[in-house]
Amino acid sequence: MADASCIDRFLSFSPVENFEKYTADILEDRFFGFPAQPILNAEEDLLSVHKKSVAYFSMEYGLSSNTYNAPESARPPSPKNLSAEHHVFSNLRAMDYYLSVDAGHLLDLPIYSGGLGVLAGDTLKSAADRGVSLVAVGILWNKGYFKQNFWFKDGQIPEENNWDPFSYPGLVPLQTRIEIPLRRETIRLRLWKYFVYGFDKKNVVPLVLLDSDLPENSPTARTLTGQLYKSDNVEWKILQRVILGIGGMKAIGKLGYHIDRFHLNEGHAALAFVEKAKEARDSGVEALTNRFAYTCHTPVAAGHDRFPKKPLQEILPDEEFGLLKKWGQDPEHSDVINLTQLAMTTCRHVNAVAAKHGEITRLQFPRFGEKIQSVTNGVHTHTWISASVAALLDEYRGVIGDWRKSPKNLWNARSLKDDGTFRQKLWQAHQFNKEKLCWFLKSWRLRPDTFTVAWARRIAAYKRPSLILQDVERLLDIARRVGPIQIVFAGKAHPKDDLGFTYVNEMLTRIDSLETHRDLLRVLMLENYDTYFGKLLTASVDVWLNNPLPPFEASGTSGMKAILNGVLQLSTLDGWMVEAAEKNVGWIFGWQHHGPEIGDEKNLRLKEDSDSLYQTLEQVARLYYETQTKNGFRDSDWVTKMIYAIAAAGFFNTDRMVEEYQLRAWRAE
Ligand SMILES: *Cc1c(COP(=O)(O)O)cnc(C)c1O
Repeated sequence: MADASCIDRFLSFSPVENFEKYTADILEDRFFGFPAQPILNAEEDLLSVHKKSVAYFSMEYGLSSNTYNAPESARPPSPKNLSAEHHVFSNLRAMDYYLSVDAGHLLDLPIYSGGLGVLAGDTLKSAADRGVSLVAVGILWNKGYFKQNFWFKDGQIPEENNWDPFSYPGLVPLQTRIEIPLRRETIRLRLWKYFVYGFDKKNVVPLVLLDSDLPENSPTARTLTGQLYKSDNVEWKILQRVILGIGGMKAIGKLGYHIDRFHLNEGHAALAFVEKAKEARDSGVEALTNRFAYTCHTPVAAGHDRFPKKPLQEILPDEEFGLLKKWGQDPEHSDVINLTQLAMTTCRHVNAVAAKHGEITRLQFPRFGEKIQSVTNGVHTHTWISASVAALLDEYRGVIGDWRKSPKNLWNARSLKDDGTFRQKLWQAHQFNKEKLCWFLKSWRLRPDTFTVAWARRIAAYKRPSLILQDVERLLDIARRVGPIQIVFAGKAHPKDDLGFTYVNEMLTRIDSLETHRDLLRVLMLENYDTYFGKLLTASVDVWLNNPLPPFEASGTSGMKAILNGVLQLSTLDGWMVEAAEKNVGWIFGWQHHGPEIGDEKNLRLKEDSDSLYQTLEQVARLYYETQTKNGFRDSDWVTKMIYAIAAAGFFNTDRMVEEYQLRAWRAE
């Protein structure tokens, strides 16, 4: 090995299919612009029997490769892999028809739908930052999630995402194939690899992606790895979980990786245990359990994966089906298998994603009450911090410490609370980001000295996207008395979520009704929310609005991106905010959940909570206009909160989260 060239060694670990196509980008010492050596080190660690390595399974990964660690390619980008125009729907109607926002950057690897995937991507980046020996397993979604188009009066029209994996920078197809023999047919999978680098590019986490789009498969099997969360029929959903869990475990075996701990991000991958348990004798199953960890993200009972036994029995061979019945029997329905039940039974470490979510998960699964812990989610500091705030924190590194290597040092920003110069510079850094947003949306004439609120996330009923638009007269009244308001929305509803679809429609209609008030209240809705917009918005608005109905938000992470940039929270008390509220990062409003009843997800409390929202919003807007006055900046309590927000980001990051996983889930005896 010592003599072999780097490329030969690289190809021995990752036999690239049609390698000639990639020779301009895979060089002796470079891999798509990154140093190649860390890839070889990571592969050797994973192959070593002496190293304790982790395998992480997730249905989706949001890697935001457009804004952080973007791979470079010598080949011109395929237009299919560029994120082109986004339309905007606003109450400045004339603009919407003729103009769109050009975001002609590399498309984020389109294998995620929202928060769960972004968290998985951030987890890999922090694992790489920390030098954890980890391999990630996922699915190569050939049609991505979906592209969102707005058509007024028709709402959201989903469109297929036809990206080209063969020319996506940093992604390579392998000659390696695996097979999953099922009752009706054998599904063959191609393996792909992508490499996630740490912030200092010293360490790498390989991501192995499974792809069924091969000519040897039946036409139906070929489309199984087409669109993420396409849920037209139950067989389809089962087979996607078979690919991730069983296929993922087979892929690890085929690549020769020696894995000590397996981590299932959500119950989608629970069949991995079944596959692994086939090798173990009865006494070995207990030992195997100690090697499995499971993170539950689901806030409500209805969200857990449940499948009728009949199609499972028709798909799976006897042995797999037998094991599934043994560990995954739904406690309430005798003819149903429940993947959450399976994961809770077979994984020694089980965690919810915030303290409050732990409490709710224990209420739902009292049998596993003692097992269910919580590890609060985080975000990857280096991905989500804006350049202007990062530069300011670097300038004050003497006080704060090396926050890049150790994000928990951000906590030390609190000691700058009484430093007048720092306070002023922090406001300037924020204004710089806000001006960037205004420039990006220049045709919609946003103003950098106007109070600006954003709501951007997946559109789902419990997140109450239209809460702030419940009573537009009241909103206008606040704007008249206190000062103008700008609101930016973004978010996709799952194409089969009729209620979510209705929300998009309702929002477009309300925005349209505000046309004549556009100078007082400017409202925009951006099409096709992705991590690029996520980063732009969380770094630049004044206030990040988060108004889920408690207790249905498991964690929420977009607000964590915002506090990192000194953007304050206007939030109900749910998910991560239950822990953040005491850190003084913004304002809490609305109904609160206490006690042992989970309550009704359909009772959205729109009237009482919008009432409470308007009351708080008025105070917040007043404080904003006392700070950003007609004569410019005047220091106030707003800036103190901004400093507390940045300090709190010392906790709400994936570096701390991965450290907790290492201590509690991956190294536990
Ligand atoms: C961060 C992020 C999310 C998650 O937001 P929540 O507040 O957890 O709902 C979803 N989508 C994108 C594109 C993101 O960047």
